[in-house]
Order: sequence, then structure tokens, then C-alpha cells
Amino acid sequence: MVSHTSPDGDAIGSSLAIQKALTSYGHNAVVIIPDVFPDYYSWLPGIEEIVIAENEFERATELISKATLQVIVDMNSLKRGLILEQALQQASAKRILIDHHILTNNIFDAAYSTPEVSSTSELVYDVIETLNPELITKEVAECIYTGIVTDTANFFHGNMTPRTFEITAGLMRKGIDIVKINQVLYHTFSENRIRLLGFSISERLRTVPGYNAVYIYLTKEDLERFNYSEGDSEDIVNYGLAIKGIRISAFFIEKADFVKISLRSEGDINVNEMASKYFNGGGHKNASGAHFYGPMKDAILLYEQALRDLYD
Ligand code: 5GP
Ligand code: MN
Repeated sequence: MVSHTSPDGDAIGSSLAIQKALTSYGHNAVVIIPDVFPDYYSWLPGIEEIVIAENEFERATELISKATLQVIVDMNSLKRGLILEQALQQASAKRILIDHHILTNNIFDAAYSTPEVSSTSELVYDVIETLNPELITKEVAECIYTGIVTDTANFFHGNMTPRTFEITAGLMRKGIDIVKINQVLYHTFSENRIRLLGFSISERLRTVPGYNAVYIYLTKEDLERFNYSEGDSEDIVNYGLAIKGIRISAFFIEKADFVKISLRSEGDINVNEMASKYFNGGGHKNASGAHFYGPMKDAILLYEQALRDLYD
């Protein structure tokens, strides 16, 4: 199983769930991700066995080259595998996809791709349940719940259907402790993370007059000041949308050699279009992202340009 860079709860949860199911059929299944995951996922059952390519690049690429099957989850393009892209492309194994992003370039031998669902984890639930309902153990249920709760931003965003809640009910029946998982995911911030959130909103949020839009930006210096660790900026973008009347929110964060952009919108405003057209990124209609290789101020100017072009 391979999933995307800056792995989130859905990437990790869906990968681990599939891995557990394949392992119970006697397969040697390994989860490989390009880079590190935030600390608040470290309790997930089996996460310690994940191979992180930025830490163990040779092992990761060797596993990929020897594998007889590639299962790609929660990403629609190998490019999202970042440093794993080349190894994935060159391997001779059959490649299957389980994903909820819009599939634009089908390079898969088989693709289970349904953009209308809340999360890849929801699709993985269906796959495993179809194979054998008994494979949805409590541990698998914990992984799948984590994917659903994080990709729906705690059952808030769109793309939820009655099925999302039926699956969640099924997961509860496996005995998972939803309150405990929510507490680990949402109530274990470091003091630095909560202060960074406060700083982002009070000092780094700008409105774009006339477009019902805001953006929030964080520079390398800001991150150093709050002793940033991976995942600390997760969800900051959503606070922009919490302002009455705001329908588009962007978040720019300065990384080593690019600016990571997160875009969120409400209703029929399509930020996937903005992400792909202006920033060579992608995602979903109301939640997309991109990597921008240039200075922060240019990324922000391009965002303002995109607002003018797309929404005037
Ligand atoms: P986030 O803003 O949380 O990183 O990502 C939001 C959504 O956009 C996710 O579905 C994610 O897969 C997608 N996304 C984020 N960054 C990129 C990117 O650089 N390229 C593409 N194609 N999609 C991205
Ligand atoms: Mn997802």
C-alpha cells in the first residue's frame, strides 16, 4: 500500500486497514508513505511498521520494486507519492487504486474510484466487508473511523452520505471508543500548536475584499518561533471559513523548497479548479491543495488573481 505525501488520517487509516485485511489472507503487505505522519496518529494499530521513505529510502524503493501488487490509496496520481513516484512508475507490478479523488489519468490496472464518498476509508470498508465482514476487526475499525472522522473534519464537511453514518455505526458495533479516538485526534495539541493557531488567526489572516475570501500565511520564521512539528498547521485553513460570509479560505505555509497551499470552500465554489488551473495541484471541490515552487508573496498574488479570474 502506498499513499500520499503529508499523510493524513485517511491516507494512513485506509492503508493500514487494507494491510490488515491482506495480511489475514496470508499476504506479505507493507504500507509505504513518502514522509512522516503527525504524532497524533502514532497510536493507530500497526503504524510502527509503516515504512517512511524519507527515513528509509532504499528499503522503501526495494520493497516497491519487488512487490507483486501496488495498492495505491487516497491519491489519484503517482506524483502525490513525491519521492516514491519514480519507483512506483518503474515497477512491473500490477497497480490498483482505491480513492475518492476525481480520476483524470487512469494509469491503473484496476481502479475503485468514487469521488462522491467522504473518504477513501469508506471505500476500504466496503472492499473489506465484501471480502469478509469478519475482517473488520476492532483494530481495522479504528483505522477506518480515523480516516472518516478526519476527512469529514469531524463530520462537518460535505461528501457525507447516509452510508457514511451507517459505516460509522458498524464501526461502533465493533467496540471502538469514538470519544477516546476523538480526544487523541483533537485534544492532544502541544501548547505550541494551540499558540500557533492563535497567532495564525490574529496575526496572519487577511481578507480579500469583494471575494468573500480570506487567506492565512505562515513563514519559516513563524514556524520556528512556535517550534513547529508536522501536523501543527492542520485545520488552520478551516478557521477562515468559520467567519460569517467567508466562502473561500486559503492557507500558505513555507516549507523547505516550496510553499504548501491548502484551499477550502463552501457550497458550489470549486477550489479544485483553482488548485489545478493556477497551482498545478488538485483535490476535491471544497478541499484542495498544491505545492508552489516560488516565493510566498507570488503564491498569494496568484491566489488573488485566481479569485478575480474565477469569481468575477
Ligand atoms: P490539504 O490541504 O489538507 O493538504 O489537502 C486537501 C486535499 O487536496 C486533499 O484531498 C489532498 O489530497 C489534495 N492535495 C493537497 N495537496 C495537493 C497537491 O499538491 N496536489 C494535488 N493534486 N492534490 C493535493
Ligand atoms: Mn482522503
